[in-house]
Order: sequence, then structure tokens, then C-alpha cells
Amino acid sequence: MRSVDVVIVGASLSGAAAAKRLVDAGLETIVIERKQLPRHKICSGILSPRGHRFLLENFGPLPPEVLHEPTSCRGVTFHFPCMVPMPMDFFGGTTPHLHRKYSDHWAIQQSGAEIHDQTSFVGLQDNGDHVIVAARSRGEPVEYRARRVIGADGPSSLVTRALYPDYPQSIPWFFVGQKFHRIIECPLDPQYFHFWFHPSLGHYTWSHARDGRQIVGVGFKRGDNFARKHRTVVDYLADKHGVRLEPEDDDDEGCGENFGPSLINRYVFGKGNVLITGQAAGFLNMIGEGMSCALHAGAISGEAVVEAGLRNRPVQDMYRRMIASEVRRTSDQWNPLKVAFDRPHEADFPAALMALGWRDGAKVMRDIWRFLALYKEFKWGRQILRAALQRPLIGGYSMKRWL
Ligand SMILES: Cc1cc2nc3c(=O)[nH]c(=O)nc-3n(C[C@H](O)[C@H](O)[C@H](O)COP(=O)(O)OP(=O)(O)OC[C@H]3O[C@@H](n4cnc5c(N)ncnc54)[C@H](O)[C@@H]3O)c2cc1C
Repeated sequence: MRSVDVVIVGASLSGAAAAKRLVDAGLETIVIERKQLPRHKICSGILSPRGHRFLLENFGPLPPEVLHEPTSCRGVTFHFPCMVPMPMDFFGGTTPHLHRKYSDHWAIQQSGAEIHDQTSFVGLQDNGDHVIVAARSRGEPVEYRARRVIGADGPSSLVTRALYPDYPQSIPWFFVGQKFHRIIECPLDPQYFHFWFHPSLGHYTWSHARDGRQIVGVGFKRGDNFARKHRTVVDYLADKHGVRLEPEDDDDEGCGENFGPSLINRYVFGKGNVLITGQAAGFLNMIGEGMSCALHAGAISGEAVVEAGLRNRPVQDMYRRMIASEVRRTSDQWNPLKVAFDRPHEADFPAALMALGWRDGAKVMRDIWRFLALYKEFKWGRQILRAALQRPLIGGYSMKRWL
């Protein structure tokens, strides 16, 4: 059995960031990844300025092969039923449009950790002074012995389930799906990620250009018909925005998202010698931007392991204290007062709203309010709305709610 300081589960951005901190501190680190690398990852790849800075500062300049076409993004354009578009540029200029298959592989290689791909985490046993990790590598059972384990295995994390079997039932889940279309004519600016606050389209509707095609994506609930929802959006884009697309190609994709822990401040950080980070821990920013918080949370999990070792302190205690700033930053993205009067999103929503003038601004605010009312129909909707309203009043960052 291989014995190392740390095993990280998941060779994505949070795993790469954690690995970088551990390797830099001289800890022997293995990353296990269930897929063959480089692996596909469903993602729009729109990186926030903070995520961009993290990559540059930690892994160096991005090679051109880790980018999609168009290679950069200026910001986000919000659309509403009132048809007033609201473009918002990212602070500090454009950011790279990441091709996750290659960017994640590049980052994990840059971390310097040893990588075991096609190796799936199956379970673990924490024995107090070490953890035994059970995995399957190319169909064969394999075990690792590690001082610490970091679960960086994304929204459906098996590491989280191993520690908290009931957790998946205790949070809201949403599903997202996207289809790819050859473009006949598309007046939507390809330099922006487009998002619709439109109750009759659904709770999460987006579109953007990628490698000569247009992505049309929708969010839906369990039991909804993805194809029908998607068709509604395609027809809407044609009717209202003059977007003419060929029928979708056959490489559509979708997944379930734990799109809620950051909404209801219900994060999971691990137990004993096992830490959970990235989206597995619940980090996901508004409109589904998850790379920047995955990178930062991942780095903090690695730092917590290093610091706990240096100071001989309990690693969970260390991690919870160190991660508090990232929790606040992520939860602030869902704080209506922060959104209205501050700049938690790295793009200037208040300035964009002011630029519309009072008449169009009022229409936009009315449409946002109607859109939020959509959440009432979700099983978790009322809890999400309550958390959003309570957050600015009583603060929503209590560590007591974290597991
Ligand atoms: C449709 C869509 C569009 C998105 N667009 C954006 C965007 O434009 N910008 C943005 O910032 N974010 C976006 N996100 C969110 C972003 O992709 C995630 O928040 C981010 O990738 C989370 O990173 P992570 O490292 O925590 O986990 P993940 O990226 O989910 O990686 C987890 C890794 O763990 C591996 N793994 C899982 N289970 C096991 C196991 N049992 N054993 C071993 N390995 C395992 C997986 O294969 C994967 O490599 C989007 C998400 C979706 C679904």
C-alpha cells in the first residue's frame, strides 16, 4: 500500500490549488482522478477576474491550448422580459475563456503533485493518526494510506457522502443541460456571457459562443423535460433576439448541481483527518460561477493542512477559521443588499443599473423581482428566499450552520 502525506480526490481546479500549496510545503501528495486525463468537464469556462489572478499567480501564464474561441470574455449581459439588456464588464478587463479539459490538466500538472488518473475514490476509514483510502484503479482495487485526505471531487462528491451520508438530501439540487448549435446568425455579442432573468424560460437560462457554435443552456427541476425547455429557449432567442441556429448537434450534456449550499449557508468542511473543498464543500457563486471559489477554497484546504502540521493544531479547527473569509465572499454574492449597493460580483451591477436610467432601471428591477418569485415553486425556494432576506439583516455566516 502506498503511504503519503496527503491524498487529494479529484484533479480539478480545487484539487490543483490544494496540491500546489501542499507540494510547495514539501508534503508528498497524490491526486486521484476517476477519469482519464485530460478529462472533459461540463462548464462554460468563463473565469472571473479573481480566478484569473489566482491562476496567473500560482500556475503562471496560461498556454493558448487551454482556451476556447473566443479566447476571452468581457463580462456578462443580463436579459429581462422587458427587453432592456444590461451588459456588465468585468473589473480590470477581459478574462480567459477556459477549455476545462485542458486548463484543469495544465493546472494539476503545474501543481507538481503525483497524479493517478482512472482511479476512483470508493471509501475511506479514518484511524485517527492516518486514513486508509479505498479506490479502484482501472478496475482493480487499490488502497492508499495518508495522514490527511482532501475531497475535491465536485458537486456529487463521494467523499462528502462517505462522511455525511444524509447530506445530499439536506440541500437543494438543480439540474442544468446545454446543447450546441451551429450559428446561422447571432446578434448576441460573442464577447459576453448572456443570462436571462425570465420566469417563463426557467430559473437558469444562458447562452454564449464557443468554438464556432452557440451554447444554449437551461436549468430545470427533477422531472422536467430538458428537450422541451431547451426548445422554448431556442424559439425565444429566435423570436426576441433574432438568433438563428441550426438544429442542435448530438453532443448535448447535463448534470446535477448542488446549487444551494452557498445560498443557504450550509457548507460541509469535513471531519477528523478528512477535509472537503471546492464545489464539494458547497462553494458556488451566483449564476453558477464556481471556478474562482473552487481555486481559493482548494488553496485554503491545502494551507490548513500545512499550518495544522506546523503548529500542531487540529486541522478541522484550522480549516474552519481559515475558510471563513471565502464563505463570507461566496455568501455575499447572494446578499441582495450587497448586490444592490456593493460590488460582490467583480462586475459593477449598481453602475450598470444606474446607466439604464430610472425608467428602464425600474422595469429591470420589476423583472428581477418577478424572477425571484419563481423560486417559490421549488421545494427549497422559500428557504432560499428567507436566507437571502435574512442575510443582510442578521448576517448569514454563522459557523454553527457549517458541517
Ligand atoms: C453547465 C455548467 C457551466 C458552468 N460554467 C461556469 C463558468 O462559466 N464559470 C465558472 O467559474 N464556473 C462554471 N461552472 C461551475 C464550475 O464548473 C464548478 O463550480 C467548478 O468546476 C468546481 O470545481 P471543483 O474543483 O470543486 O470540482 P469539479 O470541477 O467538479 O471537479 C471534480 C473532479 O473530481 C473528479 N471526481 C469526482 N468523483 C470522483 C471520484 N469518486 N474519484 C476520483 N475523482 C473523482 C471529477 O472527475 C473531477 O475531475 C459551471 C458548471 C456547469 C455545470
